[in-house]
Amino acid sequence: MPVKVASEWLNSCSGCEIAILNLGETLLDLLPEIEFVHIPVLMDHKHYGQLGEKKEIDIPKAVVGLLSGGIRNEEHLEVAHEMRKKCDILIALGTCATHGGIPALINSFTNDEFLKYYYSTDSTEPDTTIPDQGLSPLLKRCYALDEKIDVDIYLPGCPPHPDQIATAILALLNGETPDLPFKSVCDTCPAIRKGKGDIT
Ligand code: SF4
Repeated sequence: MPVKVASEWLNSCSGCEIAILNLGETLLDLLPEIEFVHIPVLMDHKHYGQLGEKKEIDIPKAVVGLLSGGIRNEEHLEVAHEMRKKCDILIALGTCATHGGIPALINSFTNDEFLKYYYSTDSTEPDTTIPDQGLSPLLKRCYALDEKIDVDIYLPGCPPHPDQIATAILALLNGETPDLPFKSVCDTCPAIRKGKGDIT
């Protein structure tokens, strides 16, 4: 029976999901062994039921969960909790999920500071009102997943290399712990930095 896999994205750019699609032929090899029960980048599967009939976010149960992006607002937090509840093994996919990533640069500013800057009177847009309708309230800052929920496997990278995603999924299908590299590209680069702008 195929292993059920659920994927979700939070405060992300969708590059991690494209990395899943970039598995290419490996994905075709994997497809007979896995069943995507929820993956917004590929399927129009609604959070509140296809007709909006549910009162709470409902993601199908899965053995493996792939969760990308950090947690920036209350909706992200709710989806993250639902993924944790429904997935036996949860993989933090990509540096945004493992560490907050590029979106976490906003953590240098308060919400008031960044909203004021973004919707400042310097804007070329005539209406600079800060929107407050239909938007999920912001949390105080951007959080890595494990600051809010338990994570089983960390797969950093921006995005993670498709080979690493395949390694992780294949290992889990075989009931093994994924053997993932602990070195970054910088660890293995032969260039030696001697000073600012001086690389040999
Ligand atoms: Fe995008 Fe990189 Fe974040 Fe993945 S880790 S969601 S590719 S910014």
